[in-house]
Amino acid sequence: THFGYRDVPVGDKQKLVGEVFTSVAGKYDLMNDLMSLGVHRVWKHYFVATSSVSRGDRVLDLAGGTGDIAALLRGRVGDSGEIVLGDINGAMLKVGRDRMTDRGNVNGFEYVQCNAEALPFPDASFDLVTIAFGLRNVTDKDAALREMHRVLKIGGQARVLEFSQVTADWFKPIYDFHSFNILPKLGKLFAQDGDSYQYLAESIRKHPAQDALKEMMQAAGFARCDYRNLSGGIVAIHTGYKV
Ligand code: SAM
Repeated sequence: THFGYRDVPVGDKQKLVGEVFTSVAGKYDLMNDLMSLGVHRVWKHYFVATSSVSRGDRVLDLAGGTGDIAALLRGRVGDSGEIVLGDINGAMLKVGRDRMTDRGNVNGFEYVQCNAEALPFPDASFDLVTIAFGLRNVTDKDAALREMHRVLKIGGQARVLEFSQVTADWFKPIYDFHSFNILPKLGKLFAQDGDSYQYLAESIRKHPAQDALKEMMQAAGFARCDYRNLSGGIVAIHTGYKV
């Protein structure tokens, strides 16, 4: 659904990523709970609770998927606020919209199928832009960060919640075992789809580490860039401002 926004062509690589998420869309929430033992809910709560956003704000949640972040943002922006949920994948957006309606959230939401690398929004149109567990899947991350910067208003905040590099040496082998052995097996068992979860584990491993991502945000034009590790660096929250 585009709600009057211009359609953006989606490249081949992005189509591939799109297919991975089409195959997991229905089981997505269950798998998140299984893989993280429910901790992803805590990370998401913390991510939204610490974002700088006020009542009445207009917020873009990129790679919004099944809508966890958007639903949490509702409480922060209130009834007068507006939340745009953007995702490249139509199946994820549809699950997101259904979930949102089930949660009683109907007004103040827009669903836009779009590629984070080329956003169909004018400059300076949002107070906050979030992307949770999404940047990792974007092919041209620098382009996505530049686009997040472009669509932010002056003074606006960008926030990235993403898997990162665990900091403690003793924890690394345990974490790798979970990622490359347990995770694909859980995928096979519960979603009949080990390959997609193998892909997810690899994408986590390849994603830039904390300091590298911070530098990418600076290069994209953000000011006052910083990050905070959660759960020993399993995930990190990066923050930047448009000044
Ligand atoms: N933010 C949600 C959450 O935290 O539960 C969903 C995260 S899910 C792991 C990643 C989402 O990124 C998928 O819904 C996928 O369709 C979307 N995605 C992947 N590449 C994208 C791109 N280039 N632009 C926009 N969304 C993208």
